[in-house]
Amino acid sequence: MLKLFSKKHNCTDCSEKFSNEDELARHAREVHKHNIRKCQKCGKLFLNEKDRLHHIKEERQKEIEYRRRKNH
Ligand SMILES: [Zn+2]
Ligand SMILES: [Zn+2]
Repeated sequence: MLKLFSKKHNCTDCSEKFSNEDELARHAREVHKHNIRKCQKCGKLFLNEKDRLHHIKEERQKEIEYRRRKNH
């Protein structure tokens, strides 16, 4: 069986499957009491603040590089 990990929204705590990210986020929040965080820029959801901050840092870095390239 082929596994397309990136397309699936599985709960990492109990392996339950969800059809979309919002449902998974709601489940994680209600069942496992995760504090779900959302990137205000692209809407990506994160199970914890550390992951979100890491993502935001990466996005900012990409933006800086993009701007730098544009200016040259
Ligand atoms: Zn779960
Ligand atoms: Zn983002």
